[in-house]
Amino acid sequence: MWRYYHAAMDTDLYRVKPGAKQIDLGEWATNDNGGLDRAEAEAEFATLTARLADLQERMYAEGKRSVLVVLQAMDGAGKDSTIKSVFGPLNPQGLSLTSFKAPCGHELAHDFLWRVHAHAPARGYLGLFNRSHYEDVLVVRVRGLVPESRWKKRYAHIVNFEELLVDEGTTIVKCYLHVSRDYQRERLQKRLDDPAKHWKFESNDLKERALWKDYREAFEVAVAKTSTKTAPWYIVPSEKRWFRNWLVAKIMVDTMEAMDIKLPEPDFDPKSIVIT
Ligand code: AMP
Ligand code: MG
Repeated sequence: MWRYYHAAMDTDLYRVKPGAKQIDLGEWATNDNGGLDRAEAEAEFATLTARLADLQERMYAEGKRSVLVVLQAMDGAGKDSTIKSVFGPLNPQGLSLTSFKAPCGHELAHDFLWRVHAHAPARGYLGLFNRSHYEDVLVVRVRGLVPESRWKKRYAHIVNFEELLVDEGTTIVKCYLHVSRDYQRERLQKRLDDPAKHWKFESNDLKERALWKDYREAFEVAVAKTSTKTAPWYIVPSEKRWFRNWLVAKIMVDTMEAMDIKLPEPDFDPKSIVIT
């Protein structure tokens, strides 16, 4: 029924294998095209998102399991546009999107996973995290927002938390949108040049950019320590946006097809019912 030209392409190439202490992001391409042709990939992208929408609807109908997608990246790498492009074509009714900002008063009064757990997708839903509990080992680590003795233990807490979600019926996919520092400059500059994008520019972005090396190291550690068999990280080369969209859509379709979601059997015989 569903045929993809590049069905054979192995998204596993972009998955971080469990067990490393730290990865070197310098070894991962930021502007890869996966050997794909842009026009073909764009055409296939439409098929992939249609298939994803179908899988999402089935999962909603099944009502037993959920999917959680975690998106993390440096500023300007394209989290917002990935959400719009890849998940925009889905039925909003079966989606739950959470954009995590800096925690406020009552959130800070709890452990770092408290607010995150509350937004984990319910059965039947595809949950999208735009930033996530990973900020608690990224910005928190880089900016020293809590003592090292506390954030150091969070990697293990995160792995255990995600294992809990998986054991209770959630499939987890984590994508790090990978771009270079030069690419970030271009994207931030665009926010200054285009009046329609001014609202996106925050002077804080430049302060974070100045800490690029620290963030990168924090990502390298976080991704390595938390890429597990059941909650893998994918490093998505994100400078070619058509490839980024294609790859995220392909990872999603592959992941959800492997779930073998079945429409529930009706508990009635439709032929025996006459609507008058
Ligand atoms: P944006 O995604 O551009 O709307 O920015 C959201 C901001 O919230 C970023 O600067 C994040 O680093 C920050 N943020 C998100 N989660 C946390 C957290 N757990 N602790 C501190 N800052 C956070
Ligand atoms: Mg921002």
